[in-house]
Amino acid sequence: MKERIQKYIARCGIASRRKAEELVLQGKVKVNGKVIKEIVTVDTEFDVIEVNGKVVKPEENKVYIMLNKPTGYITSAKDQFGRKTVVDLVDVKERIFPVGRLDYDTSGLLILTNDGEVANKLMHPSKEIDKVYIAEVEGVPTREEMERFKRGLKIEDYITAPAKIKLLKIRDKTSIVEVIIHEGRNRQVRKMCSAIGHKVLKLKRVRIGSLELGNLKEGEWRYLNSDEIEYLK
Ligand code: URA
Repeated sequence: MKERIQKYIARCGIASRRKAEELVLQGKVKVNGKVIKEIVTVDTEFDVIEVNGKVVKPEENKVYIMLNKPTGYITSAKDQFGRKTVVDLVDVKERIFPVGRLDYDTSGLLILTNDGEVANKLMHPSKEIDKVYIAEVEGVPTREEMERFKRGLKIEDYITAPAKIKLLKIRDKTSIVEVIIHEGRNRQVRKMCSAIGHKVLKLKRVRIGSLELGNLKEGEWRYLNSDEIEYLK
């Protein structure tokens, strides 16, 4: 079968398609012993594909896991500084990787899998999948400030897609809000809340599309059920 290299690498469970493209551009992928620096089509039957010096083959057994990430863990399979990663929390024999990111200081719902194809569906902004967060912020956002989420906010060099924010609870000097975004840019919820003058003090993701964290405790994980897997595909 002829297949684009990034799709093949994703099927092997090494990384998402997007990340696989980066690996190619970084010169970490070889086809039949030769480093490639651009996206090519491979023949999955005859070509030998190596990533970081290791031959890769499609995983037979696909696993789909939901983790309630505690703060203090980084969302990647490995860390160059030796910090704890979310993969350390999940004890399975398959080589899994996180779908999308949560900051070191964010907790909540994270999907881990060895199926590189699911990242595309969950994370691509064009799919408009809700990512729902509960945040504790400084002060109490006004209605006008919250309206700015709907219109899109200028953050650094980009404007965010329309998002939602809803006030859930007012505390002494802080409040609890629900934030819904479709994108997943670096520290996006924190930056959006800061842009309207309400710094995030605590952040937790509770839902991605129809996948809900429910009562999974921090640091605990479970396999997705068949309906949830169906939803991912
Ligand atoms: N937005 C953030 O600011 N941080 C996260 O971890 C996720 C979304």
